[in-house]
Amino acid sequence: MVADFRQRALDNSKRELENTVLLLTRHYDQQLHEFTGLQESVVSQIETSAMSTPERFKGEMSTLEMHEALRAKVSRYTDVAGVNVYDVEGDLINSSEYWPVPKVNIFDRVYFQDLKSASASAPILIQLVKGRFAAGWAIVVAQRISGANANFLGVTTRAISPAIVEKFFETVTLGKDASISMYHRDGTLLARYPHAESTIGRNFSSGPVHQALSQVDGVVTQIISPIDGLDRLVAARRLDNFPLTIGASTTVSAALADWREQTRFLVVVAIISAFIVAGFVSLIVLQLSRQHKKSKNRLSLEKHRLNTAVNNMTQGLLLFDASARLIVHNDRYAEMYGLAAERLHAGCSLRDLVSYRKETGSFVGDVDFYCAGVLRDAGLSKTTVMETADGRSIQVMHRPVADGGWVTTHEDISERCRSEERIAHLAQYDALTDLPNRVLIRDRLELHLKRLSRGEQFAVLYIDIDEFKTVNDSLGHTVGDELLKEVANRLRGCVRDTDFVARLGGDEFAIVQTRISHPADVTELISRVYEAVRQPFECLGHQIVIDASIGIAFAPDDGQDLDQLLKNADLAMFGAKADGRRTYRFFEPQMDARVKARRALELDLRNAIANGGLELHYQPLVSLSDNSIVGCEALLRWCHPQRGMISPAEFIAVAEETGLIVQLGEWVLETACIEAASWPENLKIAVNVSPVQFRSPTLGLKIAAALSSSGLAASRLEIEITEAVLIRDDETALGALHEIRALGVRVALDDFGTGYSSLSYLQRFPFDKIKIDRCFVNEITDEKGSSAIVQAVVAMANARNMTTTAEGVETEQQRKLLQNIGCIEMQGYLFSPAKSSADIKKMFADYRPINEAVA
Ligand code: C2E
Ligand code: CA
Ligand code: CA
Repeated sequence: MVADFRQRALDNSKRELENTVLLLTRHYDQQLHEFTGLQESVVSQIETSAMSTPERFKGEMSTLEMHEALRAKVSRYTDVAGVNVYDVEGDLINSSEYWPVPKVNIFDRVYFQDLKSASASAPILIQLVKGRFAAGWAIVVAQRISGANANFLGVTTRAISPAIVEKFFETVTLGKDASISMYHRDGTLLARYPHAESTIGRNFSSGPVHQALSQVDGVVTQIISPIDGLDRLVAARRLDNFPLTIGASTTVSAALADWREQTRFLVVVAIISAFIVAGFVSLIVLQLSRQHKKSKNRLSLEKHRLNTAVNNMTQGLLLFDASARLIVHNDRYAEMYGLAAERLHAGCSLRDLVSYRKETGSFVGDVDFYCAGVLRDAGLSKTTVMETADGRSIQVMHRPVADGGWVTTHEDISERCRSEERIAHLAQYDALTDLPNRVLIRDRLELHLKRLSRGEQFAVLYIDIDEFKTVNDSLGHTVGDELLKEVANRLRGCVRDTDFVARLGGDEFAIVQTRISHPADVTELISRVYEAVRQPFECLGHQIVIDASIGIAFAPDDGQDLDQLLKNADLAMFGAKADGRRTYRFFEPQMDARVKARRALELDLRNAIANGGLELHYQPLVSLSDNSIVGCEALLRWCHPQRGMISPAEFIAVAEETGLIVQLGEWVLETACIEAASWPENLKIAVNVSPVQFRSPTLGLKIAAALSSSGLAASRLEIEITEAVLIRDDETALGALHEIRALGVRVALDDFGTGYSSLSYLQRFPFDKIKIDRCFVNEITDEKGSSAIVQAVVAMANARNMTTTAEGVETEQQRKLLQNIGCIEMQGYLFSPAKSSADIKKMFADYRPINEAVA
């Protein structure tokens, strides 16, 4: 822009100079035309007079009149320059200014010679000369005066002082460094503003301006001025009608003054703009750097957090880029494999890392093979578990990331694996005995069933510990558990490698015996089991004797599928239980029906308890000494809607097994007490209490409650228990018995002589009565019968102040014998079976004992 402005400023100056010289040339053309007009008129006046000789011319022209005429002519012009007339000799012959005419000769003047030798009629010459009238330069305009036949007569001149021209130039000059010059066409400088004396009259024809002007009328150019040595713009032009040239110039520096000003302004504006822009830029930079710093801070905070997160992971972490170079890792990784932290760094290659691990022994396997595998599967998500040399399980999870790299996490799952194994084991093995559980035995049985080839068979032994519940309830679960563990161990010891033992739950075990070649194989195993189980157990300081009921089913005969097989073994076991326990039974198809019937019975019994299908009957106890009724035993009766009367012998066992006996027994106690309370006061009531009821710690309280609610005197109530209550070293039962005794209630030992009956029980608790079992009474009259035993029992009882009652007395013979032996009471069909409440009361009312002694 600056360059453009500069060029424009130069162009403008040039144009201005051009215009100036154009106007000046026109002006001087006009001026000179007017200026020369005077001489023309003088010349034409002379020439029209047609003077043919110079003498005549001289004569006529040198008169005073002519002087006056000339003066008059000049006065008509505004111009002050006078006019002079010279003769052929160059002598001044007349002048408008001087009279008398001074002696002046111009014969030596170039213009005179030229005009004299010229043939043209009236040429006008202009020449700069040193004036002869006054000192200083004069621009002479000269014209030839010709005679009648065109001969030379003389010259007329007018002169212009360069000072006048210069004065005019001053009025039109264009500024400080500007100059205006007038040249003769031959290159002579005629006048110049500003005036430079030394240059006036100098010839500049060889200068570039004059050279150019010899070709064209006007020229504009830039030169180093020959006058003042300055760089100048010059415009020059020739006058149209006179041999003159006008030049105008100005210095380049003046021409560019405005431009310089403009440029300075532009530069200032540019600088200010630059400053403003720089200010803005620096503000932006400042803001950006602040933001950058902020984001750097945030970034470093985030990095710190990420580091914290990554290094507090429980997993080892590696992040690789697409070229398998490590980008991120955490401390946990190094720690997991015992690697030196400084060997792990960003940029380290997968191969280096794995080789390093190989070095340290935490990687086993081929490095190249492993790395190739990782790179091949880099784009896949996968999870593998690796075993380390030190036996840990490491789960390696591989996940590709978006940029082509991948991330792996390494997690030590050894503990998890162990617990999974434990859980898997627990799912299949019994926690207490570590025997296979029901789930595993099912799996194995299924397998055995599938593999069973023709003619082959295997046996399933279903083993239930008799009375285990009693042990558990009376000695506590810890002892119970200990017992089960011991039982499991002994059972393990009974089987061959090909067989196996399982715990089915509670006190139930099973043995699967394979490769049976003979039925004796099974019975041998059974006797081994019994031998093992019947040895007394030492459990936490308690000596425990147990027994078992075993049911046996054969595959494939007793069951094609495993459910059937297990169920049938179970049924056989129930059969053994129903047949008095402590024994084994092979499965028989009818067992199923029996069990079904038993189930139905249980259901009906529940119904009866709820809806009142049960009642109590009372069987009198009679004194053997005087035949008087001393009391009654309450015996349960169930009048079944379909089956009629069902014996307690049949349903008490079911009630005991199902626990219904507790509820039933309470009802019996309450009912019996209420009934007895309505009887004559001398009559006692005997109530049977099951061993199961003795497991309840509240039995004593319940008896007390029954007594108080019925109003029956405690001394009239007698509790009958069997030795099963005392069969174990059972402090609870003994405590309960003492409690009952403390209430004033009498306690009788029922069914004496059955089961394990031993006299030792009599020492453990001071019974009030012994009830001698029916089987002794039955045989008492036989020759090799039991009379001696009964006699011994009675004697011992008497010695200890215990009453004796003989049960099941059916014949007079038996009664007599018992009476003789010294037995105190009897009970039996001989006197009366159990009777309903109403009937027994009727009996009490009607009965008059016939005293034998009296009779
Ligand atoms: P138990 O305590 O030995 O009762 C006597 C059983 O002998 C009764 O059988 C009775 O009817 C029967 N009996 C009485 N005199 C004779 C006789 O001269 N000859 C023969 N052959 N039998 C005679 P029942 O009523 O069937 O009772 C059977 C067992 O049921 C009872 O034996 C008793 O152990 C149990 N029982 C009965 N009622 C209850 C009860 O309320 N609670 C409990 N826990 N058990 C009961
Ligand atoms: Ca009884
Ligand atoms: Ca009895």
